Amino acid sequence: MDVIRAKHAGVCYGVERALDMANAAMLDDEDTYTLGPLIHNPKVVEELDANGVHVAASPDDVQEGIVIIRSHGVEPDVLATLRERGLTVIDATCPHVAKAQRSAAQLRDMGGTVVVVGRADHPEVLGLCGHAGERAVVVANADELPDELVEPVGVVVQTTQSTEKLESVVEAIRARGIEPTVKNTICFATRQRQESAARLAGEVDAIVIVGGKNSSNTTHLYEICKAHCPKSHFVEGADELQASWFEGCKTVGVTAGASTPADQIQEVVECLEAM
Ligand code: SF4
Repeated sequence: MDVIRAKHAGVCYGVERALDMANAAMLDDEDTYTLGPLIHNPKVVEELDANGVHVAASPDDVQEGIVIIRSHGVEPDVLATLRERGLTVIDATCPHVAKAQRSAAQLRDMGGTVVVVGRADHPEVLGLCGHAGERAVVVANADELPDELVEPVGVVVQTTQSTEKLESVVEAIRARGIEPTVKNTICFATRQRQESAARLAGEVDAIVIVGGKNSSNTTHLYEICKAHCPKSHFVEGADELQASWFEGCKTVGVTAGASTPADQIQEVVECLEAM
């Protein structure tokens, strides 16, 4: 079985930057926490914990030491609370997410509804809403748009969403006779990974998507692959692979989310090559 890797897959710039910042913080003797898991990858989070960088579920769980804001960013009031408490804050918000936050604030200042396209429970979306103000509404798709939209309408999008989803929401708003101001804040790394996964999924007999099951961008990669290749399998690691998935396959592709380290991808590739 030939194993082909997607041209663009695995850890992105923003995640690498956050990991570098956490690794640098480890050298400090102070207690170090990340506000929520640093990245949506359970294996990496376990390693960080073993090296003294622990997960705090909420700002209230950190009374002293160092707090790392993860690449997803946070609401402005969370950042203010941490600083008021005198904690050392290391802000690892990805610059692309920070740009999306600024876009959300610009749309808020227009005074109408700010539509945030994304997953309502995702930390990045919570942060975007904090910047988008009280008129923000989160929609996962066009069907979730509220009946009433206060004009002028702005649209901003979670950095890891698909272009198709953004376009379908924008089209649904236009169908109501409203021309929204659209800030396409889907990041370049996400687009590259999605395009490269779609291309590969269309060329192989089966494809494996590697990443945390709680990772939004990896879930999107899986959905994209599934649309092009019925034999798409989403795994967190090589130990989940089953030989029966690849019966009769001559080629298998491998792609991975933006929070999947290179060694986890390599393990999957080696396991597939050995089948
Ligand atoms: S996926 Fe994009 S926005 Fe998210 S951390 Fe990576 S580079 Fe930043």
